[in-house]
Amino acid sequence: MPYSLIEDRLAQGKTIILDGGIGGELQKVGAKIDDGLWCGRCSIDSPNELLKVHQNYIDAGADVITTNTYASTPISMKKYGYQDLIKECNYKSVEIAKEAAKDKDVSVAGSVSTYGYFYKDGTEKMKPFFNEHLKILSDAGVDLIILEAMSSQADIVETLIECSSKIKLPIWLSISCVFNEDKEINLGYDDDVSKNKPQIYENLKDSLKRFKKLHSGPMLVAHSNMSVTEDAVKIFKNNLDNTIGAYPNRGYFVKPEWKFTDKIKPEDYLKSAKSWINSGAQIIGGCCGIGVDEIKAISILKN
Ligand SMILES: [Zn+2]
Repeated sequence: MPYSLIEDRLAQGKTIILDGGIGGELQKVGAKIDDGLWCGRCSIDSPNELLKVHQNYIDAGADVITTNTYASTPISMKKYGYQDLIKECNYKSVEIAKEAAKDKDVSVAGSVSTYGYFYKDGTEKMKPFFNEHLKILSDAGVDLIILEAMSSQADIVETLIECSSKIKLPIWLSISCVFNEDKEINLGYDDDVSKNKPQIYENLKDSLKRFKKLHSGPMLVAHSNMSVTEDAVKIFKNNLDNTIGAYPNRGYFVKPEWKFTDKIKPEDYLKSAKSWINSGAQIIGGCCGIGVDEIKAISILKN
């Protein structure tokens, strides 16, 4: 579906349904998960399972599906010895998502993330890799780009936005949020068990002031604990004129897999999604640990 239809629906104040986590669903259907690239190689290793997961999300009511390219960033593919497959792997990911979306009212978002980038390397070093990933996905024909700048410091997020401005596609930006000890919301995350405490970066409000100068497209609270999501959406709403969205997670990461914990019932997820909409979110979906059942439940909020 051309993105203009999504844009029209957002302009009319309607709710758009985004898909849920791709990696977790691929694990469930038995796709091959790579030690380094997580689900990033599934377009090559498990193409049928990948197509099925996208189709399941579309059947569940998703208006936008996301390519499984979160972890197949050029920098991480080089790191794990797959540098010769960067283009092929990412192109195939787009091809499979587009195949699933063909003849449906569904747009394909290309995920460009900060996976595999480290703050200590400096943002200048990241630019060529961000640019490479953005170009591959855009050339491969995605309808929009979603910058999944999760688990990242504000400088990295700014650099990613800056690189994306050269691409002639609609751009969405998602960031992860976490409470600090004083219950204030900051950039950061708390789901990686290899780190024994939450990773807490810059203050959310201050960061949004920086990001909105560079980015006018939708901004989403993503890959964040559900407990922080509603409050984070409110801060987005009070500090931004951008369209706002939310797609939190559930569970935690133990490399190379996402572990599902105390899985919430789809009806509870629906209840939470209503609260995000009431707080100002227009795009709702799920991240790691949120699957087809939850997306199906929230798809009734489409209007
Ligand atoms: Zn996630």
